[in-house]
Amino acid sequence: MDSPAPCIVMPQETKPVNAWSMPKSPWGQQKKVETCSLNDVMSEELASHLQKQQESKLAKRLEKIAPAEPQIIQPETLPCETEEDINAILAIAGETPETCDDMKIAQMLQLQFDREHNTMLEKEAQKFNSQSKVSISLENFKVSHIPKEEEDEEEEEDSDDALPEVVEHKSQWRKYQFNKGGLTGHGKDVMSKHDAVLCGRKNAEKIMQFPPDFLSGDAEKMDLRLPNHVFNKLRHYSRTGNKQFNRLHEKQENATAEHAVDPRTRILLFKLVNAEVLESITGAISGGKEAAVFHAYGGKLEEADMPSECAIKIFKTTLNEFKNRQDYIKGDHRFSKDDFKKQNPRKTIRIWAEKETANLNRMRKFDMPSPRVVALKKHVLVMTFIGENGQPAPKLKDVRFNTEDLQDAYEQTITIMKKFQDECCLVHADLSEFNLLWHDGKVWVIDVSQAVDLTHPKAFEFLFRDCQNICKFFDKSGVVNVLQPEELFNEITAWDVKGHGVDFLSQMRRYEKESSEANLALENRYHKKQYAFDFYWDLSQKQREKALGAVQLSDSDQEEDDES
Ligand code: ADP
Ligand code: MN
Repeated sequence: MDSPAPCIVMPQETKPVNAWSMPKSPWGQQKKVETCSLNDVMSEELASHLQKQQESKLAKRLEKIAPAEPQIIQPETLPCETEEDINAILAIAGETPETCDDMKIAQMLQLQFDREHNTMLEKEAQKFNSQSKVSISLENFKVSHIPKEEEDEEEEEDSDDALPEVVEHKSQWRKYQFNKGGLTGHGKDVMSKHDAVLCGRKNAEKIMQFPPDFLSGDAEKMDLRLPNHVFNKLRHYSRTGNKQFNRLHEKQENATAEHAVDPRTRILLFKLVNAEVLESITGAISGGKEAAVFHAYGGKLEEADMPSECAIKIFKTTLNEFKNRQDYIKGDHRFSKDDFKKQNPRKTIRIWAEKETANLNRMRKFDMPSPRVVALKKHVLVMTFIGENGQPAPKLKDVRFNTEDLQDAYEQTITIMKKFQDECCLVHADLSEFNLLWHDGKVWVIDVSQAVDLTHPKAFEFLFRDCQNICKFFDKSGVVNVLQPEELFNEITAWDVKGHGVDFLSQMRRYEKESSEANLALENRYHKKQYAFDFYWDLSQKQREKALGAVQLSDSDQEEDDES
């Protein structure tokens, strides 16, 4: 862009210049330029004349340079035409009208562009509002030349000084004039500009000036007060919110796909959080084939002792694997055949959750180291969390034991197996280093949905398999003198079955059938268990109903169930 001529073009009446001031130029004949005396230049009258001339020249040049967009705004409405405008532009640029350079022209163009943009928005709003009963305002989309701090990307300190001033709005808090020390008023009424109420109102008002896509609600007529830290967070969010939303959304979608939490389950979880049984669900711990486990912080449950951390086990509603495992339930006298016959898959899954609940409750009665049931809703089981601060206790398979702890864990596991059999009258049926956790120097048993009652036809087969898993694991881990599975089995059952491996299994079955001693023992246990089980089952059902009644989860669920 060419800069203004270095000399001043004079009106006609001024004198011609001296010959020495016009050297011969190698570029060709120079145009005669008229100059004036310093005295003349200094005169005020001439100065104002020159200024006007300069301005109109500038305005003409601007017309040429500016990319005219006649289809949007007609040239006659171009906002930069008047003298006042030019002066205003130059004033904004912080310069006097006499001195012009490229920077200033660029600023002027920008300003002109911004004005056109604003005019367009106004026209747009007018166009829309003329046909509509509801009027919209695009005011916040307009470009306004407010102080630059407002656009500062840096997150500011939580201090009042960091908050930028917005100048257009006159409101209550603006009536105060603060002195240099940031104080206003006298005596008792003295008020600091850091006054919490004042700042709160100021912040609430500024929220209204956030971009329109920021859902701040309409708090214009309310006496809303926003603490500085909240305001700063909101402002930060208004800038980064969109990006974060997209990322979060992506993450949630993935999590859903990964752990297969279907919409119904999500609603159930939402209800639990909504009813404040859970404070928040923080994330997935495990996404197995049969169940997904999540960690959550406990909320409150009337009259119930709510743990601070919970594990939510969600039995999967779409899985076929469970079909293969009906064996575990079919032989269990606690679950009738009818439970299966008329059931749709969703209901079948629910039986697993109920079974785990029943087993956990029974185990709890005998003080087994296992999670405690907090709530059961359909196929979602909420229990106490084994672990700390969202970190689940490691499975035995993942613990790096020292010799002492390893020996301890082995002995604890055997004690658990005996108690399981003797007192709970249950066989875990999936006991291994995967379903035993190590927490606080203790072995904890989890995952008991498939645990069966001792009367189950395959109970002892399952028990032998458990023995095999446990012995194999501890032997492999380096425990010395680990019992053979057969020995462990005999120790737990107090039977005396001979043989090894497959032979042991057939011997065991025969023993089970023939040994009156074994039958008698089983019968005794059965009666003992019958009483205990019925009692505790009823109790657990009552507790459950009470707890969930308090939660008042709506039972529109019933309809869902009857669908298929
Ligand atoms: P699955 O049928 O998928 O094996 P589990 O009941 O074994 O279901 O749970 C899967 C994983 O979730 C466990 O290995 C354990 O890491 C974690 N988990 C389950 N229940 C709890 C709990 N109450 N506390 C802490 N972690 C748990
Ligand atoms: Mn498991």
